[in-house]
Formats: sequence, C-alpha cells, structure tokens
Amino acid sequence: MKSKLIIILTSFLSELNKKILLFDGAMGTEIQKYSPKESDYLDNKDGFNDSLNFTRPDWIKKIHKSYIDAGSDCIETNTFGSNKLKLEEFGEGDRTLEFNIQATNLAKEAASESQKKVFIIGSMGPTGFLPSSNDSDLGNISLNEIEEAFFLQARGLIEGGCDVLLIETGQDVLEMKMAVEGSYRAMQELKKSIPIISNVTLDQYGKMLLGTNIQSAYTTLSNLGVDIFGLNCSTGPVEMTPSIQWLCEQKEIPILVMPNAGMPINENGMAKYLMTPEEISTKLGEFVNKYEMVKIIGGCCGTSPQHISQLRNMLDNLNQINLKK
Ligand SMILES: [Zn+2]
Repeated sequence: MKSKLIIILTSFLSELNKKILLFDGAMGTEIQKYSPKESDYLDNKDGFNDSLNFTRPDWIKKIHKSYIDAGSDCIETNTFGSNKLKLEEFGEGDRTLEFNIQATNLAKEAASESQKKVFIIGSMGPTGFLPSSNDSDLGNISLNEIEEAFFLQARGLIEGGCDVLLIETGQDVLEMKMAVEGSYRAMQELKKSIPIISNVTLDQYGKMLLGTNIQSAYTTLSNLGVDIFGLNCSTGPVEMTPSIQWLCEQKEIPILVMPNAGMPINENGMAKYLMTPEEISTKLGEFVNKYEMVKIIGGCCGTSPQHISQLRNMLDNLNQINLKK
C-alpha cells in the first residue's frame, strides 16, 4: 500500500538536501543516569521507560535539552516502546494515543526553548513479536494486530506534531512492513503526510535477527516508499561499514547511520559501551566524507550528549572545509 496523499517537500526533507543532519544519542542509558527507583515509574512498573513521560517529565525534558544543547538538529520522542502491543505488556495498551501525544509534547517543549529549529522525530521500536518466525510465542500474532499497534502509535505521534516517523531497531522485515503500512494509514486518516525513516538492526555479520540480509531488507522497505533508510543499534560503526557501503552504492534514498558506542561488553550483567566520543566521531566522519548518500548521523545505545557534541564539532568543521572549497 503505497499511498501518500500529497507529495510535499517537507521542511525536514528540504533541510536534508542542504546539509547533513545530526540526531540525538541514547535515551535509555541517559535515563539510567538518574538511577530511577521503582516508585518513579507508573504504578511502580520497574523499567517502564515510556511511562516516565507522565511520572518524570522533568527528566525526559532535561535529556532532550541536553541533546539540543550538545548540537542535535533532531530529537527523538521517548516512545520507543509505545506501540500498542508493547504498552499492553504494562497494561497500558488502551492509552497508546495518549502516551505518544504526551511524549511528543515534551519533545516539542524542549525544542521550543531552543534558538534554532529542532525537528521532532517520532520513535517507533519493535513490538516484541516476530511475525516471520515459527516460534510458538513470538510468532503467534496476526499481521493485522501488528499493523494496528503501529497505526495507533503513528496516529498519536502525528497528532502530537512530530515532523518525521522513525521505525527503528527493526529485527523482522515483516514487522517493519506492517509498521510502514500502519503509518500510511494514520497519515491517510489524519490527512497529513510526513516522512518515514526505516532503520534496521544488523548483527556484526550484517544479518537481521531472522537471517535477512541488508539487500532484501532494503528492497522490501524502499519499495514501500520509505523516504530514508538506515541502520541503528546492535553494533558500533565499524561493523556497519560493509552494509553502509552497499546501501550508499544504490544511490536512491538518503541513508542514516546511528550506531551504538561500539559492540556492548558484558560487565556484571550490564551492557557497557566503550567507544569514546572521539572514536565514534572519527568513524562517522569517515562515512560522511566517503559516502555522499549518508545524510543523517546520530548515536544509539551508550552514546551521550558528549558523543553528540563531538559529532557536532566534526560536522561543523566539515561544513567549513566545504565552504572554503
Ligand atoms: Zn541501540
């Protein structure tokens, strides 16, 4: 179902034509820095990060602002787990619209306090189900239910006023396809079209969780009409190199790169990310210099405002060099 109602060059896409845009870094690892207690979460549901939009809006807004201050052009809403199926795990599925609108408002508030234009990116993470798999639990879901889960989320994000929808950390292409279709349905119902970014997650061997390779993931999603395609999470930038190179060689749509701060290291049961701001910035600097299709960079797990600030410096220096040419 490729059915965008109106083709308009939104300000996001026209900005992307002019310069490389910088996303923010991780939300989860920044939340951990506040050492949240059970009582900070809605109904004491430990680890329910998206509920902090209601119970700890001050934290979430401060995290957004820290990324804007570090130089992000775009910030992601705290809605990674706010599709209906994921919210149902916490008994909040009926409040899907409300969760997404509330989170978008917080991001908008943080952005409105900045001097420059900051784009609001509606984050849409996985449902926890894997519709392509034969697993009796994870595969036990209808495609309609998945589409509906994302439709409601997209609807909330668009109603709230997001500039872009970001389907991220995609591990199952079929689930991502349903997320795109749900997003289109929300746009049709609201009569408002905004760009869609689809980000897949690859392991260090370049494969998705169920073995899909980058070529078939890209073909499926670009045929659905997504505006931007990217990679996020799972690995650091080094492991992403062959896939980024292949994607850029297609020269069709802009490419986004949002790696973790290196491959996670397990330390006492906690994932640690060791890549420094300088290391990540050097590697992403190589990408933007070498591949003109890389139009958006940012950070995933383990990246902090320090990483983003270093990326800001790198991009600003690059712009200066280009201006002098
Ligand atoms: Zn990540």
